[in-house]
Amino acid sequence: MKLVDTHAHIDQISNLERVLINSKNVGVESIIAMSINGKSMKETLNIGKKYPNFIYPTFGIHPTEWLSENLTETFLWMKENLHNCIAIGEIGLDYWGKFSKKKDLQEKQREIYTFQLKLAEENDLPVSIHSRGAWNDALKIALKTGIKKAVFHWFTGSIDLAKEIINNGYYISCTPALEYSKELRDVILNIPLDRILIETDSPVYIRSLNRASDPSDVLITAKLLQAIKDNPLEEVITITRKNAYDLFGITK
Ligand SMILES: [Zn+2]
Repeated sequence: MKLVDTHAHIDQISNLERVLINSKNVGVESIIAMSINGKSMKETLNIGKKYPNFIYPTFGIHPTEWLSENLTETFLWMKENLHNCIAIGEIGLDYWGKFSKKKDLQEKQREIYTFQLKLAEENDLPVSIHSRGAWNDALKIALKTGIKKAVFHWFTGSIDLAKEIINNGYYISCTPALEYSKELRDVILNIPLDRILIETDSPVYIRSLNRASDPSDVLITAKLLQAIKDNPLEEVITITRKNAYDLFGITK
């Protein structure tokens, strides 16, 4: 079994070494390691250097993580270090949380998101997009910037939008939340396996398991996806692995 966790926050995981050994034992072959701000990019990069061909760092400023950031400095650092990452992420928009209800903060989010999409497009890098509560704008802006390679991570928007996403050549990823999230299940039910990636968003708390997740839980995502799609588990894992490596430009 060769699993790819396409979205994990490894800089936030405790007992990382033990977690990574366990993940390898479960069959995890690669982890796409997201960052959320300047500090997280540097930490993720350092961890990635310790685990080449296993942990693949990405650089990005998350839509709710920029208030205390020196954006000029961080964007400059990103540009200078782009050769060390395989994608731009986690970037996007979040109109869901308390933080994001103010119109001026939403405007700033769109500005930061657009800047990072352009940076990715200019450097031919894929992006991992967070779109909670802002599904429409997140897609609209991605299309406007002309970005070609993108995954809408843990997408819980409408089925119509999900179809628009895949018709534009983008992917959608799912997490262990497939167990309880009707929105995520509905999206995944209505799109083909060749547009789907699997992930954990670890260490996010998994409601159905009553604990924090880690990359080994990508096997749970695969099994939940298998139950929805009714393909054999091996096939689900093989197809989603190919999708992940196609998107992130990894050859193995
Ligand atoms: Zn995330």
